Amino acid sequence: MNVFGASTDKADINRPQPLAGRGRRRRASAQMTYSRKIRFRAGEPEPDPSRIYAYPEHLRQSIDDLPVAPGVYVFHGEEGDLPLYIGKSVNLRHRVLSHLRNVDEARMLRQTRRISYLRTAGEIGALLLEASMIKQQHPLFNQKLRRTRQMCSIRLSDGRPEVVYSRDINFATEQGLYGLFGSRHSALEQLRAIADEQRLCLGLLGLERVAAGRPCFRAMINRCGGACRGDEPRAQHQARLEEALAQMQIVCWPYPGAVGLLETFEDMQQVHVIQNWCYLGSVDSLDAARHLDRQAPGFDADGYKILCRPLLSGTARIVPL
Ligand SMILES: [Zn+2]
Repeated sequence: MNVFGASTDKADINRPQPLAGRGRRRRASAQMTYSRKIRFRAGEPEPDPSRIYAYPEHLRQSIDDLPVAPGVYVFHGEEGDLPLYIGKSVNLRHRVLSHLRNVDEARMLRQTRRISYLRTAGEIGALLLEASMIKQQHPLFNQKLRRTRQMCSIRLSDGRPEVVYSRDINFATEQGLYGLFGSRHSALEQLRAIADEQRLCLGLLGLERVAAGRPCFRAMINRCGGACRGDEPRAQHQARLEEALAQMQIVCWPYPGAVGLLETFEDMQQVHVIQNWCYLGSVDSLDAARHLDRQAPGFDADGYKILCRPLLSGTARIVPL
């Protein structure tokens, strides 16, 4: 964890994985695999294993049509043309051709009826579009089901850490928030990890009930530095907590309003419109960007993770709108 929050999205974050391990959709997916298997056996023989890593014949034309350019691609299934998988790349054709690596990907490709794509003018545009399409369309095979969901963070209240929620506080503008978490549980886990590492007192942090005037249990086994029984000054204990939290502070939106992030690829130019770390859409000119609705619906964790580094490092071309 660093100032950019959780790990930055890299190419493989949405790689397909076996149907069995995907949380809430597990049951539905397992049923689907089962029914597909049955139909598969009834309709045609299991494919020859030596052919697993060959692209299905009916997708050849789709692949030939893919450009050597950045963008987002979609594998559409047989039923209702629904997206099975959405991915992004700086090189669409190369990336789609690389979907041959394992049995699960081969299975996904056999279920794919066609491949479509949307070009973008760069990598950031592809990342933003992919995240927004996955949130809207919930593809069956995307490993991380990114929903617009409640996020948690940690802040200090009278020096004590407390868990706060994105429904109550605007994470893009509130000062003094530490870490981005998908649940209260993972925020508390992170606090415990800091306590272990820094030998902090769970009693003083408010994570454990300790009888007044008595040391905590962890002080007795020497895992708490003993601030609870006066072995070290409270201020020293507090300084270690604050230093550890500072490592994961959420960066406030650094502009007075919305900005356009410019990307170009060959003859294509795009302006990605962003406000409060929220991606609001891409247009082909600054003029069009100024006419876009620039109200951010709320903090967007995907937008934050994708945009933090390019915006703060000064590598992206930014125009205030
Ligand atoms: Zn203690």
